[in-house]
Amino acid sequence: MSFADRAKIYVRSGKGGDGHVSFRREKYVPNGGPDGGDGGDGGSVIFVVDEGLNTLTDFRHIRKYCAENGQEGGKRNCRGKNGNDIIIKVPEGTVLKEEETGRIVADMSGENRRIVLLTGGKGGNGNQHYATSTMQAPKYAQPGQPSKELNLLMELKVIADVGLVGFPNVGKSTFLSHVSNARPKIANYHFTTLNPHLGVVDVEGGGFVIADIPGLIEGASEGVGLGHDFLRHIERCRVIIHMVDVAGTEGRDPLEDIALINKELSAYSETLAKKPQIIAANKTDAIFDDGSGNDPVARLRAEFEPKGVKVFPISAVSGKGLQELLFAVKEMLSEINEDPIVFEAEFDPDEEQMFSEDPFTVEYNEEEDEYVVEGPRIEKMLGYTNLESEKGFLFFQKFMKENEILDQLEALGIKEGDTVRMYGLKFDYYK
Ligand code: GDP
Ligand code: MG
Repeated sequence: MSFADRAKIYVRSGKGGDGHVSFRREKYVPNGGPDGGDGGDGGSVIFVVDEGLNTLTDFRHIRKYCAENGQEGGKRNCRGKNGNDIIIKVPEGTVLKEEETGRIVADMSGENRRIVLLTGGKGGNGNQHYATSTMQAPKYAQPGQPSKELNLLMELKVIADVGLVGFPNVGKSTFLSHVSNARPKIANYHFTTLNPHLGVVDVEGGGFVIADIPGLIEGASEGVGLGHDFLRHIERCRVIIHMVDVAGTEGRDPLEDIALINKELSAYSETLAKKPQIIAANKTDAIFDDGSGNDPVARLRAEFEPKGVKVFPISAVSGKGLQELLFAVKEMLSEINEDPIVFEAEFDPDEEQMFSEDPFTVEYNEEEDEYVVEGPRIEKMLGYTNLESEKGFLFFQKFMKENEILDQLEALGIKEGDTVRMYGLKFDYYK
């Protein structure tokens, strides 16, 4: 199986525990006051960066991540237990997207080491909260807030300053192993290194990270669908090293190769295509001078230097020219804004439909043939209103009018005598 840099998972926060309805029972006290406890809060879905991870492999096996629900409140003012959070560890550079729309929910890089993606539902108030001078035995307790859920597409976009691109066998791995602490596999055949390899390059005045991106052409040309897939790893890079084999050991033309790869880059994203490039003309040690005066490095220079793209002749095997190339890359990096590239969130799960902050909804339920009015505001109102008292009933009527609930019922086509339900309360509608 290939390197796991994409995964789809389902996450859900815990529901808040419901508030409890109960009354004190003591000897000689026939009707004690309300003592229903509050529900516990539901657990949250939390993502953290784990430095020890570098693939999303774990998420291919376990796809469902749920925080615990809060427990219901109990008698004698007993608060329900809070649900445990679920903590999901991801490698740095993991971008979380809402699956359906592809909008970014969070980018686990830069300052984002830990984020609460879905907050658990708050526990509901027990009936002890709803006692008033006129309503001493409230039979209402608040339900816990619902859980929130999200289908996520996770993508690992490696953190590297420099992306190394080029056809297979031009010497990318050899180069990386020579200039950095990375030890990528080197072999003279394709499909060897289907992982992005990171190498830290030490140069005076601060090092930088290079990512060797395999699979760009390998997969595309073999039709295994890897073509553009790996390019996401260089989306964060600031400079692209374009490596070609100027000795033409595989019979390809370096100018053509550069054009082809640039085409791939712009097909993937314009932003990627616009990143500053530098050309590493590799295998200069193997250039065969046929006496024609056809110098491949000079050809590259004539083509690219007028466009502002520098060409560096190197030999990844002997190490010739590597220092000059690295120095030039370092220069380019220092001229570019150093802030890490962190993708902005485009989607806030707390603001989306899945948990609506709307104070209430008015709907017609066909199955039950009743009109249903629900929402946090309604719950609260019912909690502190004693409908059995005249004052309470007048207050209730005023509330319905001021909140335009009556208008909304009329708009839905309610007729005299139809049933309206608000949580546990049912009544017939009369003007
Ligand atoms: P990659 O596919 O781009 O990662 O290429 P590799 O680094 O695996 O190298 C492919 C082949 O080219 C290997 O046999 C290397 O030894 C050889 N090679 C790499 N750099 C040079 C170089 O500068 N000169 C010569 N003569 N051969 C090289
Ligand atoms: Mg390689």
